[in-house]
Amino acid sequence: MTKFEALGLQKSLLDAVSDMGFETPSEVQEKAIPILLSGEVDLVALAQTGTGKTAAFGFPLIQKIDSNSRTTQGLILSPTRELCLQITNEVQLYAKYEKNINVVAIYGGASITDQARQIKRGAQIVVATPGRMKDMIGRGLVDISKIDYCILDEADEMLNMGFYEDIKDILSNTPKEKSTWLFSATMPAEVSVIAKKFMHSPQEITVGTKNSGATTVQHEYYVVGGRDRYPALKRLADAHPDIFSVVFCRTKRDTQKVAENLIEDGYNAGALHGDLSQNQRDLVMNAFRKKQIQLLVATDVAARGIDVDDITHVINYQLPDEIETYTHRSGRTGRAGKSGISMVIVTRSEMRKIQAIEKKVQQKFINKNIPTGPEICEIQLYHLVNKIKDTKINKDVENYLPAINDVLQGIDRDQLIKKIVSVEFTRFSNYYNKTKDLNSGDSRDRGERGEKGDRRRDREDSSASSSNGSVRYFINVGEKDGYDWMSLKDFIRDTAALGREDIFKVDVKDSFSFFNSEAEVTDQILTTFTEFKVDGRFVNVEVSNSPGGGGGSRRSGGGGGGKDKGRRRDKDRGGKYSKGFSKSSSKDSGKKRSKRRSDFF
Ligand code: ADP
Ligand code: MG
Repeated sequence: MTKFEALGLQKSLLDAVSDMGFETPSEVQEKAIPILLSGEVDLVALAQTGTGKTAAFGFPLIQKIDSNSRTTQGLILSPTRELCLQITNEVQLYAKYEKNINVVAIYGGASITDQARQIKRGAQIVVATPGRMKDMIGRGLVDISKIDYCILDEADEMLNMGFYEDIKDILSNTPKEKSTWLFSATMPAEVSVIAKKFMHSPQEITVGTKNSGATTVQHEYYVVGGRDRYPALKRLADAHPDIFSVVFCRTKRDTQKVAENLIEDGYNAGALHGDLSQNQRDLVMNAFRKKQIQLLVATDVAARGIDVDDITHVINYQLPDEIETYTHRSGRTGRAGKSGISMVIVTRSEMRKIQAIEKKVQQKFINKNIPTGPEICEIQLYHLVNKIKDTKINKDVENYLPAINDVLQGIDRDQLIKKIVSVEFTRFSNYYNKTKDLNSGDSRDRGERGEKGDRRRDREDSSASSSNGSVRYFINVGEKDGYDWMSLKDFIRDTAALGREDIFKVDVKDSFSFFNSEAEVTDQILTTFTEFKVDGRFVNVEVSNSPGGGGGSRRSGGGGGGKDKGRRRDKDRGGKYSKGFSKSSSKDSGKKRSKRRSDFF
């Protein structure tokens, strides 16, 4: 008896198991399958990405479904289109020897009528993303009022993405007496809430340490200055010539920007985020699978469906807001028994996040230095020499050999080697020749931006505010304009095209606000907000001389006093910008705010 037989799976499924090449059940399968087959139970199963959760619910589901009935009996909810399709494909493979089982995928971005037609033909199992599912229920295109099984896959991620309300709505269309199986990599509070609210004394299984990352992943962090993220990323890539990596950014905008810069700088890079059409995303993913793309720059949501096994490095270009998200990211590498490295580029101010993550993944991070120019040159040199050594000789070269020899006549072996190597190597050595150490986050140390940032650097150096440390600003918009600290931070950052962490200590008052940035982006901020209008009103930023400037929280200042100060400031401006930016614009900022969610799709 094989281990899969011992779990209680029927013959048709065991045949599928062996066709799929599964020899032994994974831990979550070993624990979940017998429980799910044993009767009608609710289950919460926590297991990392890549531990085989799909089969853990897929096989029992198929075994329990009545294939003679065309009624929809099982609903699987999953966060993204990619995952939805992946699960559908897997479950179809599991059901290969089960006649008459139809599994239909329902997801956004594809024809709803086609999907409705497939459902109408009779789908015992529906795999859906919450948004499209809700839509189809609303239009009466799918009936889930008789399901026996509801599976919430990647529950943490669905909730992360703001699907709580949708899930609630969907579940309200399902019968009370059904079994709910919840699968998740992590167990944040929101998932517990779902379990409490919608499940009946669920059994719980946990695989590995709760919330821990795969142990085959090594975690490293690199401390750099806020503006050095991009050159640091390039160095990490250059120091790993065979890198095959997913680079995570927090927003679609950063994702696109970083990918574009990489491509412009000659890397095999591509962007993956929700603003791309499905077709574009498929093209990028195909190129990545074929390793034509070495650096796939992606948002968390878009990357969720990546099922590529041999990713060597995950690079956190920016840390995610949620610690849980980090575990999803690092779980993209170290799959299928391979080892992987998860690198984090952080600024000093983010270091405490590293500690929080260490606790979560229960693994220590290694503090590493961004390789120096000479180190990278050396790595590249040996990589090149080894590549030459390992290159298979193309027979056709023979034909040209006499002519080649003619050309190269009189160059001795030593010289020839030097020349051949220099063809490639000079690019690196030129680039890294004058660059400095990026480590330690010393903001004066920014030789590398020279290639694109010379002008800006000059401006910085001559700027009065280029002394070290952060700069405090005043901006003439506040709560009255519909902002809270988060939306204002986004607004300033997006408008001035800054990085995610460039704006901090945002302190929103009634009709004005304060915020900080590092001195090095002061010029960029002030230039952006010169003569800057929203809805015909001036939005104005100036350096604040307030004592809170360097750092201490302004919150202690209290609302009233701050208001006075703001008025004074408005007056100081000589009335030019004193028009304010009030009520009518709150609509606009509200829009900004609500865009936040879509920003991650
Ligand atoms: P998760 O949902 O936990 O992230 P998946 O269900 O997507 O993981 O499975 C990850 C990979 O492992 C898939 O390629 C799947 O086919 C494979 N897999 C699942 N179970 C087994 C098993 N028992 N033996 C070998 N491979 C398996
Ligand atoms: Mg899964």
